[in-house]
This record gives sequence, structure tokens and C-alpha cells, in this order.
Amino acid sequence: RIGAPFEALFARLRADPDNVDSTVGFAVVEGGIALIAVGPITPIVETPIARRRYAVFVREITDEILDDYRALTGQHDLQLRLASDDGQHGVPIADPAGVVLGELSWTPLTPGTIAWRAALPKMAASTALLLGLVVFALYRAQLSQHALTASEARASHLAHHDSLTRLANRRSLQAAIERILALPRRHQLLLIDLDGFKDVNDTLGHVVGDLVLVEIARRLAARVGDRGTVGRLGGDEFAVLLGGDTAAGERLAATLLELVEAPVEIPLQAVSVSATIGVAASDGAGTVSELLRRADVALYEAKSAGKRRVTVYHPDLDRDRAARRAMADDIRHGLERGEFRVAFQPFHHSTTGRVAGVEALLRWDHPTKGAVPPALFVPVAEETRLVNQLGAFVLREAALAVRDLGGLPVAVNLSPIQLLDERLVERIQAILAETGLPATRLEVEITEGYLIQQPDRAAEVLGRLRALGIKVSLDDFGSGFASLGYLRRFRLDKIKLDQSFVQSIAVDPQARRITNAVVELGRALDIPVTAEGVETEAQARLVRATGCELQQGFLYSRPMLADELAAFVRDGATAKRRAPRLGAAAVDA
Ligand code: C2E
Ligand code: CA
Ligand code: CA
Repeated sequence: RIGAPFEALFARLRADPDNVDSTVGFAVVEGGIALIAVGPITPIVETPIARRRYAVFVREITDEILDDYRALTGQHDLQLRLASDDGQHGVPIADPAGVVLGELSWTPLTPGTIAWRAALPKMAASTALLLGLVVFALYRAQLSQHALTASEARASHLAHHDSLTRLANRRSLQAAIERILALPRRHQLLLIDLDGFKDVNDTLGHVVGDLVLVEIARRLAARVGDRGTVGRLGGDEFAVLLGGDTAAGERLAATLLELVEAPVEIPLQAVSVSATIGVAASDGAGTVSELLRRADVALYEAKSAGKRRVTVYHPDLDRDRAARRAMADDIRHGLERGEFRVAFQPFHHSTTGRVAGVEALLRWDHPTKGAVPPALFVPVAEETRLVNQLGAFVLREAALAVRDLGGLPVAVNLSPIQLLDERLVERIQAILAETGLPATRLEVEITEGYLIQQPDRAAEVLGRLRALGIKVSLDDFGSGFASLGYLRRFRLDKIKLDQSFVQSIAVDPQARRITNAVVELGRALDIPVTAEGVETEAQARLVRATGCELQQGFLYSRPMLADELAAFVRDGATAKRRAPRLGAAAVDA
């Protein structure tokens, strides 16, 4: 019944089998105009194009639906016309071939009459995602129309408000801070940063991202009401300025965390994000920039402590910052003075216990502090980009250490920061050329966070690495998003199951089931799984029972320096006996 427009949409999808987005278009159906969406159903395993399945939505734009649009936009004279007569405020509706079928037209609203707040709950109740999106496009079109025909008053409103969320913008928030600093009454500044918002934008698109921002802005404004000022500082960062003491600020922040976390219902699905909040008190801050800085320091602290939390500014936080700066200087000197070393921890075949390869782990022997664990200094090195130099050092040492160890592969950890470096691939290539390690013997271990934050860039960089023959492993799988989609999209060579599962495998049936599921998943995708952190015979046995191919952990071997590694690999048996904690050693026994 749809005919050519449907064929056109379908052809568009088939032309690009890698595209996972749906395509949307309009067509004339039974005398009216209908919205059609065709989307591929993403298969879990590789499926030939001819056997792929698609979902098709057809929704005729009936008068009832127009009524919804009218209520939603407050545009009571919104009409769908089959022919254009003025075209001024209309949105043309064309089929996929570009033939104009009709247009939606309305009279632009006067300022202040948009019942956007009132409209959102209705939107949430709607069941047609696509219609919601069309309406949103209309709303945006209307906003720009407004901007063009704005009166002075409106221009000033726009200058002080964020056009998407209608909250105070950065400028007017700063002005509000300026004003409260002159008052004797104490105020609290809350900086609210959304976690995982980039993920929403990247996976669901900017239109949905915008809807989420608008809804969150609405919730914040509704909760704060007249008690304070709510602003959007840009991107996914919001701010609240409110009178009261620190306890009041903290209380509000805690309720806002919950408000943000309630799923945002957009038609056909619910989207969840969380927030991290930094709070700073006006007393003692003195200037606008100092108060903003303090709230920012608190926010930064909350984020590094793991997000989804509230941190209140305290002068100690500045001292922590100073400590981090000092550590950065220390790392710099340490690099100059040769304080860094690379340790190697083998990973083993599950069934034979034989060494299958080694992972390079950075070690820092600080002249006064002794051994500083990577968990302490890697984050500082990332913050200061020193991790690029450290990474190059690790790769060079690793390549030299394993080059002559009979074809053994070596894995190096890549920080997300290193992956941002435009010239990473060239640098890796140069070190491989310089040391003579074939690219096929190198593996890089990356974490999911990077794939999720920068999916397009990740695909490009990982593609270039793989083209050179370098293998890519996903480290700490299960500690973060553990997304099936990413496993497929990035064609990984290896999955390393996070230590936490192995650690509880002997006591927690759920950990065992998850391990099983991940190994099974690896098998379906043809990606071998490594279990990390195997410390006891019982754990090794349970891991082996899942069919997991590779194991790594103190039971088998501890991280060791290059010469020890050479002995361990060349003379497996004796080295095994020397290795601590191995106990009954014979892993196969
Ligand atoms: P990771 O990549 O998950 O490395 C495994 C960590 O687990 C290592 O800690 C290793 O010593 C430890 N481990 C191995 N077997 C066992 C076991 O049986 N039980 C327990 N409890 N732990 C075990 P390490 O060396 O302290 O490294 C910690 C993290 O620091 C690494 O986690 C990695 O994320 C990061 N890191 C280490 N070296 C580098 C590096 O050269 N570059 C980057 N970017 N990060 C590194
Ligand atoms: Ca690793
Ligand atoms: Ca790991």
C-alpha cells in the first residue's frame, strides 16, 4: 500500500549495511499523509544481508494526531495541508524522492505562550517516538523563526536564557552570583554534570539528547522553584544557586541526583542518565570566579571519586589538587631519572597452563616513596597527558623484552587519553620498527569507557591498528557497560573478564553464571576470553569448567621483570617452582 516511497527507504538502508539507524520518510497512503520508518533489527551474530530483518512503522497523520501536535506545541491552528499556499511558516512534507506531498503550517507564537512545560508530560505519554521527533523538529523550527522575528524584549530574553532549555544561561547565572555575593545571606552554588549523556547523544542521536536535556531542565526548575536560580552552563552542565547553608545545599543536591536518575520517558523508550554534583558555599568565596572555581573543584572531585555523588567544596580539596600537581612533577622527573620499569605478567592456556603471552604492567620505584601503584599515578599521568610518554616507554621496553622470546605475544595497556592522540598509530609503528617487534605480536588492551565516549574515533583508530596486524583486547569487561553492541561493532580480538567475577566465582553462583555467559558470548562472537585475577586452584578449576580459554593471575604467575620473565618462559618448569603461591603448580593435574 505504500509503494515507491517504501522501496526508496528500504533501498537506502540496504545501500549501507553497516548503518544501524532507521530511515524515516513520508508517503501518501489512502488519501492522507503517513510517516514511515524502516529500521534494521541488529542481529546478535553476523547475518548475511539477505537474511536481515527490518521493522517498519507506518503512522497516518490523522486529525487526532494533529490534535496531539497542537496540544504539544501550543500551536492551536497547526494544520496539515496537501498544497502549499503561503509556505512562510510551513514545514514541507516530502516523500523520499523529494516530491512535496503537503505541509504543516501554523501562525508563529507570541513570546511566553509556549506551554512547553505543560507539554512534556503529554509527550511522555505519547507512544509514537517518531511523531514525537517530528513535533520536536517543529518546535525547533519555531524557535528559530522566533529568533528571526524577535522583538528587543525577546532578544534580551534569548541573551539571558538558554534557547533549548529556557533556563538562565551562563551569563545570567554569573550575574545572579554577582548579586548574591553582595548580600549578607549565605548561598550555595551547585554544579550538576550529567554522567553518560554523551552515550545518549551518540547512541540515540542529538534529538533524543536534546529531549533529555529539556526534561532534566524541567525537573530541576520544578524542584528548585522560586527558592533559587537554575541555569544551564552549556552542554550537559547545569547549575543551581540557592539561599541557605551547606546542609541545605547538600540536601537539595541529593534530591536532584534522584530526580535526574528517574528515567526520561521519550516515546517508545525510557532513557536513563545520572548526575554528579559539586557544591560550594558563597561565604569566603569573594568573587564570582572563585565561587565557580570552588564548585568546579568539588565537582571534579566527585567525578574522580566515581560520579553519581555529591561533593561539597572544602579547602582540603585544593590541597589534593596541589598534591596531584606535585605528583605530576614527580612523574616528569621520574621519567628523566629512569625510575619507571615494566613488569610482565604472563597469561596462560586454561587447559595446559602453558604461557600464551604476557601483559606489560608499568612499575614506578620512587626514590623516597618506594613502589607507587599504577592505580595512583596513572590517573595523574592521564590528566597531564604524561601517559603518552609513559605509554611509549612501556611499549618500547615491552617490545625489547619479548622480541627474542620465541614468538610470544605481548599486551600493553592503552589509556583512553593515549587513544585521543592523533599520532598514536604512527608512534606505535615507529616503536615497532625501531625495536623490530612484528606488529602481529602486539596486543593493545583498552577499556569500554573509551569505546562508549568516542565510538567513531575508536572505530577509526582501532581499525588502523588492526590493519597493521595489532590485536585489540577489551580489558576489565563487565566492570562497566558490558555492551554487546560494542563487542560486535569494534570486532575485538579478545575479551578480558574483569577480576571481580573471578574473585567471587567460588562463593557466588551469580558470578559463575556471568562468567559462563561471557565465555558463551565470546564463543558466539568468536572472541577468546581471558579470566583475570585467578588466585586459587578452586577459581582456576571453575574458570576452566566454563570453557574459558585463557587465565591470568597470581596462581599462575606474578608480574616479573624482563630477565625473570625470560627465565620463566625458557625454563617453564623450574621458574614455575620458583614462582610464589603456585603451590601444587601443575595446573593441569
Ligand atoms: P589491569 O590492566 O587490569 O592489570 C591487571 C592488574 O591486576 C595488575 O595490577 C596486576 O598486577 C593485577 N593482578 C594480576 N593478577 C592478579 C591476581 O591474581 N590477583 C589480584 N588481586 N591482582 C592481580 P597493577 O599492575 O597494579 O595495574 C593496575 C592497573 O593499572 C592495570 O589494570 C591498568 O589498568 C593500569 N596500568 C598498569 N600498567 C599500565 C600501563 O602501562 N599503561 C596504562 N595506561 N595503564 C596501566
Ligand atoms: Ca590490562
Ligand atoms: Ca584488567
